[in-house]
Amino acid sequence: MTELQRTIEEATGALRAVAGDWLEGLATYVLVDSLDHRLVRDACAWTSPVLDFTMQSVLESHGLWEGPGFACVLSARQVGALSGDRLRRFVVGASIHELSHWLSFAEHSKAKRSTGPWSGHDVPFMRAAIYCTWRARDRHDPSLTTEDVAIAGFDYRLSNPGRYEQALSPHYGLAHQLPLRELMQLAPPTRFVELFNADASEYWRRQR
Ligand SMILES: [Zn+2]
Repeated sequence: MTELQRTIEEATGALRAVAGDWLEGLATYVLVDSLDHRLVRDACAWTSPVLDFTMQSVLESHGLWEGPGFACVLSARQVGALSGDRLRRFVVGASIHELSHWLSFAEHSKAKRSTGPWSGHDVPFMRAAIYCTWRARDRHDPSLTTEDVAIAGFDYRLSNPGRYEQALSPHYGLAHQLPLRELMQLAPPTRFVELFNADASEYWRRQR
């Protein structure tokens, strides 16, 4: 087994540890884009609500199809440039990042769309990603950070991930106790929503 295969196996285990309750009866696919080059383009990683079905025939032809579930694709270029701990952090972090998109698609489709450099990475996504990071730290790797999972911060022109973690801290205990579906149905703490709204307003104010 290659280092990459071992790392992908580890990431799949991390996803099952984090979201086993949501993924019960579903498959988990962490793929590298050499399976289908059209999918990833310039992104580091990618998912969609129907990526499992999009990839079904490719997976079947490789004998990898295990039924519907969560799928994400990592960029072969990105993965090929890394090794050791950096590879591990990227594969596990990006898989959890994509899982967080997948978990928050339903909430995103209900919410008012917020555009900006954070597009697709606003309140529903960040909330799912922080819950998942907390669970991953507890159940998989205590050293995993919200930076590894690429939440908030300068790339999205938002406050640092630590401030978002702090604002979500009233849910810290619940994040370890409740099933993920129930967690995502809770209203986010007011402070968490206010922090995002303040960041977004500040960004647009500077653009004027
Ligand atoms: Zn993303």
